[in-house]
Amino acid sequence: MPSFDFDLFVIGGGSGGVRSARVAASLGKKVGIAEEYRYGGTCVIRGCVPKKLFVYASQYSEHFEDAAGYGWTVGESTFDWKKLIEAKDKEIARLEGLYRKGLDNAKAEIFDTRAELVDAHTVKLLKTGQTVTAETIVIATGGRPNLHTALPGHELCISSNEAFHLKELPKSILIAGGGYIAVEFANIFHGLGVETTLIYRGAEILSRFDQDLRKGLHEAMEEKGIRILCHDIIQSVEKTESGLSVRTKNDKVLTVDTVMLALGRTPNTESLGLQAAGVAINEQDAVIVDEYSRTSVPNIYALGDVTDRVQLTPVAIHEAMCFIETVYKNNPTRPDHELIPTAVFSQPEIGTVGLTEEDAAKRYPELEVYRAQFRPMKATLSGRTEKMIMKLIVNAADRKVIGAHILGHDAGEMAQLLGITLKAGCTKDDFDRTMAVHPTAAEELVTMYSPSYRIRNGERV
Ligand code: NDP
Repeated sequence: MPSFDFDLFVIGGGSGGVRSARVAASLGKKVGIAEEYRYGGTCVIRGCVPKKLFVYASQYSEHFEDAAGYGWTVGESTFDWKKLIEAKDKEIARLEGLYRKGLDNAKAEIFDTRAELVDAHTVKLLKTGQTVTAETIVIATGGRPNLHTALPGHELCISSNEAFHLKELPKSILIAGGGYIAVEFANIFHGLGVETTLIYRGAEILSRFDQDLRKGLHEAMEEKGIRILCHDIIQSVEKTESGLSVRTKNDKVLTVDTVMLALGRTPNTESLGLQAAGVAINEQDAVIVDEYSRTSVPNIYALGDVTDRVQLTPVAIHEAMCFIETVYKNNPTRPDHELIPTAVFSQPEIGTVGLTEEDAAKRYPELEVYRAQFRPMKATLSGRTEKMIMKLIVNAADRKVIGAHILGHDAGEMAQLLGITLKAGCTKDDFDRTMAVHPTAAEELVTMYSPSYRIRNGERV
C-alpha cells in the first residue's frame, strides 16, 4: 500500500468542502483542506447568509409604513448603508471563525491557499509551492458569477459578489436576470430605497417556478415600484457623465448608477489541474460525477456547485454526508435530489417543493389543483394590498400531493415543513385530516377541501 500524507484532502472551504473535511476528521481520518479565499464559501461569505441579512434590512421600510395601521407613529427614518455593511461583515467574520474552529476542533489541517491537482493523488499548495499527497481527494471549489464577457461594457457591471461590498448605496440600479439572485436583489435594493429595474430575457421571471407564483410575484413587485422589463436583454453598457448608459435589445436606453448581472453561475474548474489528474468536465465546465459523486478518477470525488447538479447549500452538505457514508462508513449512499424544498427570498417570499402545475400536467393524466389567494391578516390593518397564494398539486389517481407552492410571508419556513410531507408521500386526505393552526396563513394549506380546478390530459377542466 502506498502511503499518503493525508487520508483525505479537500480543495475548497465552502459548504460541501468543510462538511466533508470536518466529518472525515472527526472519524479519525487525517484530513487537509485548502481554501484560497475565506472559509464558509459562497453561502456564508457572499451568498445566502449576507443576502438574508440584507433582506431583513430591506424589509424595515415596509415595517415602518405598516406600523401606522396598528396605531404607531414612527418618526422619520433614515438608512445607513455603511452601518449595515459593517454589521454584516462582523457577523460573517464570526461565522467564518466558527467554520475554522469546527475544522480545527476535529483536527483537520487548514491551509489558507489555492490548491491545484498535480495528479490523481497529489495536490500543490500554491502559497508555499509545497505538494501533498492524499488517498482520497474531494473537489468542492463551488462556482462564481457568470461575468457575461461577451457583453460590451461587462467590466462596468457588478455581480452579487460586489453587491455585498459596495462603498455607497446606488440611487438607481438595473439588474439583469430573472433567477433567484436577480429577483432577491431587486427586492433588497428597492426596499433600501434604490430605484430598481429588472431586465429579463423571458416572458416571466423565475422560469423554473410555478406560473401562478411567478405572475403573483411579478405583480407584487411592480406594485411596490420595481420596474420589470421582460422579453429584453442588455446589449451594451457605457460610462457617461450621468452614470451608466444601458442600451437594450428593444432599443430602450436607461441611465443608472449601477448595473448588476445575475445571469447564473459558472463552476470553478479553471486551472485546477483537472486535466493533469484525469478528471473529466462537461461542456458547462462542471466536474462530471457518478451517482455517488465520484469523478472519472476513482479516488477523486466532487461535491456541490462545482458539479452543477443543484446549486443549493443544503444539497452540497447532503452530498458531503453521502460521500462520508460511502467512503468512510462502508455504506454506499447516493445523494437524493428529489423533492428539494426551496425558497426565493423575494418580497413577498416564495416557498416551494415538488412539481409545478405545468410540469405535473406533463407527467400525470389527471391533477387536482387546490388554490387559495387571499389577503394575509397582517395586511388588513396595515392596508397593504399584497396577496398570498397557496397551491397544492395533487395526483388524482392516488391523491398524493406532488407539488406545494406558496407566495407570501414566511413561505420559506412553510416550504421546509411541506417538504417533509411530500417526502413522506402524504396524500391530500392526510392534509384534510390535519387540524388547522388558527389564526395563521398556513391553515389555508389544510382547509382547501375541494379542488379549485382539475387538469385532465394537460387541459384545465
Ligand atoms: P439562476 O439560474 O437562478 O438564474 C439565471 C438567470 O439568468 C435566469 O433568469 C436566466 O434566464 C438568465 N440568463 C442566463 N443566461 C443569460 C443570458 N445569456 N442572457 C440573459 N439572461 C440570461 O441563477 P442565479 O445567478 O440567479 O443564481 C445562481 C444559483 O444560485 C441558482 O440557480 C440557485 O440555485 C442559487 N441561489 C439560491 C438562492 C436561494 O436558495 N434562495 C438564492 C440565490 C442563489 P432563463 O430563466 O431564461 O434561463
